[in-house]
Amino acid sequence: MRILGIETSCDETAAAIVARDEAGRGSIVSNVVRSQIAEHVAYGGVVPELAARSHVTHLDAIIRRAMEEAGLGFEDIDAIAATAGPGLIGGVLVGLTTAKALAASLDKPLIAVNHLEAHALTARLTDGVAFPYLMLLVSGGHSQFVLVRGVGQYARWGTTIDDALGEAFDKVAKLLDLPMPGGPSVEREALKGDPKRLRFPRPLLGEDRLDFSFSGLKTAVRLKAEALAPLSDADVADICAGFQAAVTEIVARRATAALQRLGSDAPEIPPVLVVAGGVAANRAIGGALRDAADRAGARLVIPPAALCTDNGAMVAWAGAERLALGLVDGFDAPARARWPLDSEDMGARNAA
Ligand code: ATP
Ligand code: MG
Ligand code: FE
Repeated sequence: MRILGIETSCDETAAAIVARDEAGRGSIVSNVVRSQIAEHVAYGGVVPELAARSHVTHLDAIIRRAMEEAGLGFEDIDAIAATAGPGLIGGVLVGLTTAKALAASLDKPLIAVNHLEAHALTARLTDGVAFPYLMLLVSGGHSQFVLVRGVGQYARWGTTIDDALGEAFDKVAKLLDLPMPGGPSVEREALKGDPKRLRFPRPLLGEDRLDFSFSGLKTAVRLKAEALAPLSDADVADICAGFQAAVTEIVARRATAALQRLGSDAPEIPPVLVVAGGVAANRAIGGALRDAADRAGARLVIPPAALCTDNGAMVAWAGAERLALGLVDGFDAPARARWPLDSEDMGARNAA
C-alpha cells in the first residue's frame, strides 16, 4: 500500500509518500520538508499564527512536489494520513483539513495520526524494529520513556516534570543569541568548547525515577551566562559544551536505569531502546546512549537525523501501520493541541 502523509503540527510543512509491503516492510517513496524557520527568526521562536498561515500558503505545493518526486498520481495512493495532534492547533487544522478534503474528494480512507505515535513508529520504517520495544522520545515538546507494545499501545514510564529536552536546547541557544533551531546550534558550539570548564547541575539524577527536569538546568545556564557577561566566543562554546555534557549524562544515566527496569519488570521483552524525536539527532547524546546500551547488552536504534526531526514520512508510515490494522478515522476526527500517547483514546482506537 502507498500512503500520503502530511505534517503541519509545528514549523515544518511536510508531505511524503511511504510504501508498505505485505510483509510489513516500509520504504520512503518521496519526502518533502519545508522549514519555516526563516519566517520565525525575527521573533526568537515559532509564532503559532504565522506558522498556521505559512502552512496554508505552502502545503498545496509541498504535497504536489511529494507526488511529483514519487512519480505518482492521487489514484495510486491508498490512503491519506495527517497529523491530528498534538501541536500548534492552527497548523494541525491546516494539515488535517487538507487531508480530509483530499480523502473526501478521492474517496480514500483518512488516518488522523498522533504526531508522537509517528515519532514512536519511525524506527520500524527505518530499521524494521519489531514490537515491543522501549522508546526514549526526546523532542521539542516531549521527553519521556514509553514502552511501545504495539500500534496504539503505549505505557509511559517517565516524563519531564517541566521543560522538554529540545525546549531546553532551544532556550539555551536563545539566551546565547545562537541561531534557530537551537539544538543544532548548541551542538555545533559544544564541539568547539571545553565540557569540563563549567559544571551545570543534573536535576533529579539522584532520585530513583525515570523522570526528567530541565528547567533548573536552563536557569543555571542563564545565571552562568549573566555572571560571565560579556561573553567571549570561548565562553559561549564552553557554556554549550557544559550544558550538553550535563544533559548527555542525565539522558544516558536515565536510559541505563530504564533498561535495568525493563530487564527486571518485563524480562520477556527483548532489550531494545529506540530513540525518537528531534534531539535524537544530537551526536553527543546518541554516542552516550550507544555506550549505555552496549553496557546493558541492549540494541540501540536511532533513525537518521532527517527522520528524527519532523517530517511527512513518519506520518505516512504511522498511517500505513494503522491502515494495515484497519484503523481508519471519520471526517469528524478532531484536531488536538494536547494528545498524550498513553491516553485512553489511543487504546480505544486500537481496540476498535
Ligand atoms: P514534539 O514532537 O514534541 O511535538 P517538535 O515536533 O517541535 O515537538 P521535533 O521536530 O521532534 O519536535 O524536534 C525539534 C527539537 O529537536 C527542537 O527543540 C530542536 O532544537 C531539537 N533538535 C534538533 N536537532 C538537534 C540536535 N542536533 N541536538 C539537540 N537538539 C536538537
Ligand atoms: Mg520544527
Ligand atoms: Fe515532533
